[in-house]
Amino acid sequence: MSAEPARSSDCSEFRMRVFELIDSELDSAECERLRAHLDECGPCMEEYERDLVLKALVRRSCACQPAPRTLRMQIMATIMTFTVEVRGEQDAG
Ligand SMILES: [Zn+2]
Repeated sequence: MSAEPARSSDCSEFRMRVFELIDSELDSAECERLRAHLDECGPCMEEYERDLVLKALVRRSCACQPAPRTLRMQIMATIMTFTVEVRGEQDAG
């Protein structure tokens, strides 16, 4: 991989705050700023989508009981499959 343009500080900030974005804990200006970064940064978009899926799966599976270890393994496997699918689509396009 070649060197990316200098936006690593944006990326590290984004990754620290991605869960706040998903949980809508940011004010609208912050939210917009991070979403703007998402639009122009593929790796962060992947990170965001993965966290979004993880969050949704965990929320669903934790609705009535704590997630047992096996369930967490299944979730991780699902996320890896999801990531592969996303990558595959990008390669095809
Ligand atoms: Zn980024």
